[in-house]
Amino acid sequence: MYHVTLLPGDGIGPELAEATKLCVEATGVKIDWDVQECGLPVIEREGRVPPGVLDSIRKNKVALKAPITTPIGKGFRSVNVFLRQELGLYACVRPCKTYKGVRSYFDATNVDLVLVRENTEDLYAGVEFKAGEASTKQLLSTINELATGKKIKTGADTTGVSIKPISYEGTRQIANFAFDYAVRHGRKSVTSVCKANIMKFTDGLWYDETRAVAAAYKSKFEWDELKDGVTADPQITPNGDASKVVYMERLIDNMCMQLVQKPEQYDVILTQNLYGDILSDLCAGLVGGLGVAPGANIGPDSAIFEATHGSAPKYAGKNKVNPTALILSAKLMLEHLGEKAAAEKLERAVAKVIADGKDVTYDMKDDRNDPTAVGTREMAQAICKAME
Ligand code: NAD
Repeated sequence: MYHVTLLPGDGIGPELAEATKLCVEATGVKIDWDVQECGLPVIEREGRVPPGVLDSIRKNKVALKAPITTPIGKGFRSVNVFLRQELGLYACVRPCKTYKGVRSYFDATNVDLVLVRENTEDLYAGVEFKAGEASTKQLLSTINELATGKKIKTGADTTGVSIKPISYEGTRQIANFAFDYAVRHGRKSVTSVCKANIMKFTDGLWYDETRAVAAAYKSKFEWDELKDGVTADPQITPNGDASKVVYMERLIDNMCMQLVQKPEQYDVILTQNLYGDILSDLCAGLVGGLGVAPGANIGPDSAIFEATHGSAPKYAGKNKVNPTALILSAKLMLEHLGEKAAAEKLERAVAKVIADGKDVTYDMKDDRNDPTAVGTREMAQAICKAME
């Protein structure tokens, strides 16, 4: 029996959590779910994330989390970001894989990417200064005093500032995680992504460190030799030998285009927090949308498994949305718990239901108004049946 914290979230969260619980139970793995509420209504009422939530995750070390709403531009900082930072969940892992039968705008039938995103630093650190406040004016004046090159020219009353910290230690930690992941999972390449040509002291540092980690692996693994920090065309190790992981670098803008044009040439993508957030949705789009994109947030002591998508409030309570992303997140959770066979069984059942194309939600039908589309609960029930 495993003890797992279940965060049903808000919006479409509770119905997805229920559907996913059903599917996990159908794998035969016994889980004692510790349900903890921390959706928007609870946060608004209590003014903070209830302490029981963190206590439960710290105790159980594993949580399955449905989406939680973050009000835009006001109110609380994101609960999602808060949990990742409080628990030191520095690695966000988002596999993006095409399943037969998923409707996708692109004919990217063999996409099998894993996005490894640094989860605690960058513009998500939450260090922000509001336009017009005294501290912001003081900061802007100090920056302009200290800056040897460019100055901030816009007015002290009209300029907001968000700080982007990128550290050697944070970068090293996530780069090591990406290489370890690549080696453990027999992946062929790790591509480090940022915008070092513009942000020399943050993204430049990032490349220095991911390159150093790649070099440390060089004694063990084949390494795509860097020339002035830029690789030639992507090189995939022939025959996919698991012992050889190729290191590549791409600038974020180029990466977006490359992923749309030739996603099959990439494998593990290693990137910062904000770029990772954006690339996650791009990769999800490649493989059929947010409805099928799972994720894991992993730290040294605990892990939270959650879908890439948000709480889609307009669909809340309608038993309409696709439960696949959270169910596949639960598959990652089962792997993390060491239940590899159950994880594979669950993934096979999901793939079968999607390939059959009958008991799937509206977003997976050729016509989104197809009256034969089933609800969230019914799709989960079909997945359970496929495991019998
Ligand atoms: P969203 O992912 O919630 O929804 C965007 C659109 O994607 C939806 O309108 C819907 O058309 C589609 N979609 C999302 N999930 C789907 C599913 N399971 N099945 C079918 N279609 C699906 O993004 P948003 O509207 O930008 O964000 C809503 C709220 O969620 C915001 O408050 C945001 O901050 C929050 N959010 C939370 C998380 C999280 O909990 N980890 C992640 C992202 C966004």
